[in-house]
Amino acid sequence: MRYDVLIIGAGPVGNYLANLLAKDYSVAVVEKKNSFGGKACTGIIGSENYERLNLPKEAILNELYGATFYSRIQSFSIGRKSPQAYLVDRKTLERELAKRAMKKGADYFMSTTFKGFKNGKAILQHLGEVYEVRANFYVGADGVNSTVAKAIEAKTKAEFLIGYEVEVLGEFNEKAVEVWVNKEITPDFFAWVAPIDGETARVGTFGSIEDLNRFLRLRRLEPTRILEFKAGSIGLGWRKPWIKGNVALLGDAALQVKPTTAGGIVYGMLCAQALKKALLEWRPEKYWNYCSWVRKQVSFGLKFRKLFLGLNQEEIEKIFEILGSEDAKEVIETQADFDDHLRTAKAILKRPKLLAKLIRVSPALIKALL
Ligand SMILES: Cc1cc2nc3c(=O)[nH]c(=O)nc-3n(C[C@H](O)[C@H](O)[C@H](O)COP(=O)(O)OP(=O)(O)OC[C@H]3O[C@@H](n4cnc5c(N)ncnc54)[C@H](O)[C@@H]3O)c2cc1C
Repeated sequence: MRYDVLIIGAGPVGNYLANLLAKDYSVAVVEKKNSFGGKACTGIIGSENYERLNLPKEAILNELYGATFYSRIQSFSIGRKSPQAYLVDRKTLERELAKRAMKKGADYFMSTTFKGFKNGKAILQHLGEVYEVRANFYVGADGVNSTVAKAIEAKTKAEFLIGYEVEVLGEFNEKAVEVWVNKEITPDFFAWVAPIDGETARVGTFGSIEDLNRFLRLRRLEPTRILEFKAGSIGLGWRKPWIKGNVALLGDAALQVKPTTAGGIVYGMLCAQALKKALLEWRPEKYWNYCSWVRKQVSFGLKFRKLFLGLNQEEIEKIFEILGSEDAKEVIETQADFDDHLRTAKAILKRPKLLAKLIRVSPALIKALL
């Protein structure tokens, strides 16, 4: 068996890349699980990029128009007239993308695990049988614990966090996400409540299971009304190189994740587009350059993350006071972008009044962001 491109991992990003490449190349995708989906993931994807990337409508469970932000003692809401993000079903998203790729000619090998490279070939294992496949180009889209990254000796000093999430019954505003920033409850990350409808939501945080339990108590959600529990890791930082010879890392395997929110689906897909461009030009080494927008966002997000970790709750309360003001809300409502956090921060810092107030709270924060 020989393919132009062998993609390892049929998550959303691997399947999306298979779609992009299947018309121009012979493509195979190997997936170690026996079915799609199942990963711990809230499934929130910005609506603008959802349309732009032409992702399957069938996967959308809910449309989200805004968010309410809570600190320990304050809250404010922002919203727009059109949906800003979608809450999706991961299994449907992955299956539909895989179906599209198959229809374009991609071959899928489920229950097939990539074990490593030997003499330029991929060693695969399917139900106890080990065999080799040769491809001209290999893509590791095999998630945060990437075996492909290990095989090419990619290095990382990233911060790895475990996310805990439940699907739970309760009472929710079905059109808005809740974001809770309270270091006394969840010290490592914010906690989120993402409604599927008015009575069911995905609720989670990164850190420890105790953090999530504390949050569920604060939010008055009953441990006996949990429909599903999931845990999964995320890596915030760099894992390099993204390309070595004829092997590229993509999506979570390359840690193409927003350090501000831990969202990785859109950034992985944007990098898949960059990889396609580099491959079509026969200049795979350009992949890193073509991902420059995502790299800028990750760099910004990492600075923001470092600052967040250094803030105490009193400082967070002061920042909430500023961001909850009419002036700031107007900027956020008109200029914030779900995936472009750099642009959002710039828009806020362009307002002299807001800038002056934020400098007073944390000069270090502003210095780093500027
Ligand atoms: C709690 C939590 C909540 C999140 N919420 C969001 C969110 O709301 N929005 C968002 O955008 N992102 C979110 N993320 C991040 C998101 O889940 C990832 O960024 C996304 O799944 C990355 O997709 P991927 O295809 O790169 O990797 P994955 O989804 O991890 O897919 C990798 C695939 O590779 C397969 N695989 C692994 N090893 C091998 C092997 N050796 N051989 C063959 N196959 C293999 C796996 O089985 C898997 O199917 C969240 C993450 C967590 C942990």
